Amino acid sequence: MSKLAVLGGEKTVTLSPGSWPRVGEEEIAAVVDALRKSEGDSRYLTAAGGGGPMEDFERNFARFMGAGMAMTTSGGGPALHIAVMAAGVEAGDEVIVSPYTWGQTVSCILQQNAIPVFADIDERTYNLDAATIESRITDSTRAIVVVHIFGHPADMDAIMQVAGKHGLPVIEDCAQAVGAVYDGRRVGSIGHLGCYSIGDGKNMVGGEGGLLVTDDARLFELANLMGQHPARHAQVVTDEGLKKYIDSLIYTYRIHPLAAVIANVQLGHLDQWNAERRRNAEYLSRGLAEIPGIAPPHVAGGCEHVYHIYSPTFVAHEVKGVSRRRYVEALAAEGVPIGTGYVQIPVYLRARHQEHAYFYGKGCPWSCHFAKRVVEYHRGDCPVTERRCDEQELTIGGSVAWLGDQTALMDQYLDALRKVTENLGALREAEAKA
Ligand SMILES: *Cc1c(COP(=O)(O)O)cnc(C)c1O
Repeated sequence: MSKLAVLGGEKTVTLSPGSWPRVGEEEIAAVVDALRKSEGDSRYLTAAGGGGPMEDFERNFARFMGAGMAMTTSGGGPALHIAVMAAGVEAGDEVIVSPYTWGQTVSCILQQNAIPVFADIDERTYNLDAATIESRITDSTRAIVVVHIFGHPADMDAIMQVAGKHGLPVIEDCAQAVGAVYDGRRVGSIGHLGCYSIGDGKNMVGGEGGLLVTDDARLFELANLMGQHPARHAQVVTDEGLKKYIDSLIYTYRIHPLAAVIANVQLGHLDQWNAERRRNAEYLSRGLAEIPGIAPPHVAGGCEHVYHIYSPTFVAHEVKGVSRRRYVEALAAEGVPIGTGYVQIPVYLRARHQEHAYFYGKGCPWSCHFAKRVVEYHRGDCPVTERRCDEQELTIGGSVAWLGDQTALMDQYLDALRKVTENLGALREAEAKA
């Protein structure tokens, strides 16, 4: 039995998945070509007037997603903010959202001076659980924001059923799940509005940028009115009742056309890249399933996971006497890029939600006079989320770059995991001494 690296032995992992994002000759040629064309055609440098490469990308993206319309934005966060505005969320309204996410799934609600109400997650997919959503609905609920965390689709049929019953719009945060499939449909095209990020680390990139998709012409026109330049509104806004709002009271949430040019090339690779990520991740998962102490991420029936983040589960009772921290330390020393988790603290237990005073001191949105009731957040509100954060979550980093055949790398990760489980006795001793 070889000695653990954390106790002075040799480390197991010598390979690395490579860097991400990947920009190839095709992206470079497309950008050079766009810059050449920009002399005499400003649409290659600004998206203000519409048209040009930005609109080519929007059309391609909408078609890829199976959505009626797509609108580019400067980021996933801005797309979410616009979606929440277009959905009609106002000051004092309540919006139901997942606490197990990247903060911006929630900041779009605060940006409208609306109140986030957190529902709990499903313990296998880590996405919002439809039954707990329903338990949080009040007369003040105006929308539901769903995230497809790590790239695994939320249970959209159940969620849309609850939303439909209560007449609530559903916004999908697909920033980590671009291209993921739920029951034959791409995520983002299932709810009323779908939001994506093509930021630097996402499964396809423009460097910075985002998109919003919808099948609803009115929502699309409202989104346009809020986040695009008035020069574009004239072409997009057809609703007679909305035309009088064409003005410059807007957010500058436009994309840079060169980001659209890069992302347009990447869109052509997306399905292939996601399939490669999936093949490598599934290989690792098959190995993990045989090793005590760690359980692979679950994939629900009818779902295609795109593994933006690979997040397995620590199974404490299988490695009794070894804490998650010690386990991760031992694996990290072996060279596995492992961490104790991505979310770490449920969003409602973070300082801004606990203190309410926030940046401005007035306690809005919670103390806004439009708020119809007192909303507070307590430990115990979402027990499944808290257990995941406190005891179970792990991440093996770099899955977004698991392209091509990474079997050799996955085998090294599995060797390291086996080595650690074979040396649990030594780890327990080290833990007892500490
Ligand atoms: C990245 C991300 C965002 C924000 O996207 P940006 O393009 O960085 O603004 C929002 N939600 C989730 C879940 C994300 O991972």
